[in-house]
Amino acid sequence: MQLELPRKLNSLIEQAHLVATEVFRPISRKYDRAEHEYPVELDMLASVMDGMNEGDASGGAGASKLKQERGADKGGVRNGSNMATVLGLTELCWGDVGLALTIPRQGLGNAAIAAVANEEQSQRFKGRWAAMAITEPGAGSDSANIRTSARLDGDHYVLNGEKIFITAGGRADIVVVWASLDPARGRSAIKSFVVEKGTPGMQLVRLDHKLGIRASDTATILFTDCRVPKENLLGSPEIDSKQGFGGVMQTFDNTRPVVAAMALGVGRASLERTRELLRQRGILGGYERALFGSTAAEAELYRMDAELEAARLLTIKAAWMADNGIPNSKEASMAKAKAGRAANFITLRCLQLCAASGVTEIELLEKWARDSKILDIFEGTQQIQLLIVARQLLGKSSAELR
Ligand SMILES: Cc1cc2nc3c(=O)[nH]c(=O)nc-3n(C[C@H](O)[C@H](O)[C@H](O)COP(=O)(O)OP(=O)(O)OC[C@H]3O[C@@H](n4cnc5c(N)ncnc54)[C@H](O)[C@@H]3O)c2cc1C
Repeated sequence: MQLELPRKLNSLIEQAHLVATEVFRPISRKYDRAEHEYPVELDMLASVMDGMNEGDASGGAGASKLKQERGADKGGVRNGSNMATVLGLTELCWGDVGLALTIPRQGLGNAAIAAVANEEQSQRFKGRWAAMAITEPGAGSDSANIRTSARLDGDHYVLNGEKIFITAGGRADIVVVWASLDPARGRSAIKSFVVEKGTPGMQLVRLDHKLGIRASDTATILFTDCRVPKENLLGSPEIDSKQGFGGVMQTFDNTRPVVAAMALGVGRASLERTRELLRQRGILGGYERALFGSTAAEAELYRMDAELEAARLLTIKAAWMADNGIPNSKEASMAKAKAGRAANFITLRCLQLCAASGVTEIELLEKWARDSKILDIFEGTQQIQLLIVARQLLGKSSAELR
């Protein structure tokens, strides 16, 4: 067993950390206050990232690179795009989660396209910024319950329905929309469709005000007789009751470790800054003295270190499995459940430890506590991740354990 991080990814980690320090942190508070204002500073960054990915022989990092490496050597030691993305995003989110979520062309929809599009579609949608629209007023955790419909009419599908809470829904070039070909046939009839921004019948209704990640926009979009070319359906148009949700759900095996990585980043940021502030007040928390001689505050810091490290190991394991073609649904959910919960706990606990410096806007600690909350909610809540893990461990289907 080799637990060291791959050396070939060191420069990527360093570059991401540099972006977090030099680009994100200086504008972090600005876009927390200026909710719904697009962070123009990210345009240049996105172009640099595109360039770096193009020239990267190892596959590159980022949402559009996330893929389960089917057919890779079982038990191999490949460290590819999943590992690179997880490590890079941990650093970026050490800088700012909201800004990381709104880097152009790094949307959840890009990950969906990478996971299920065919070759022709991958080429056609390359270089576009893609949001992902699953959630509806009547369907959140229970995504099998979605009501948005897609009816075939000649060479087009006609979409009708309302999608809410779409990250980057107002900024992305395209939106990957989950809709049902036949609501009577349940989850296997749910397919994803790529809809171009500006398509007639697609209406941006509003942007939400949020607790945290305010640099990232969250949109409601209405589809009314919205005609989408037939070729924009991702994956197979057949309704295969045996495959069920399989096709559209693949995306999450790749993206949940990435959300876990975001949690690691913001958790580490809080812990590091808290250590610095407490050190100024004479509390060490750096393993300088034995546990029996440490203060209660120091002991808390050690416990939080352990929580974060446990989450980190689960996260890189889930990403490594994806890079090596090993089914990782259980591990991806374990990583997200652990990291989301750890980050929520750590960021809030750090506020408590720093008291006034924790809750005022002098420090970013209060912002990080607000930003971290969503990481335990979107892409499946804490409870849903645990449900998925339980199903896998007990060998139960979603109908048997819900
Ligand atoms: C800022 C933000 C960004 C988002 N971005 C996107 C996006 O880009 N695309 C998108 O499609 N969606 C997005 N979402 C939606 C997000 O994925 C959902 O909010 C999430 O899946 C939970 O759904 P819900 O809010 O309807 O809660 P509900 O499903 O109503 O859940 C309410 C509570 O009940 C619990 N619960 C539900 N079912 C069970 C169960 N079976 N067992 C135990 N507990 C259960 C949940 O854990 C939760 O605590 C975003 C949401 C936010 C707030």
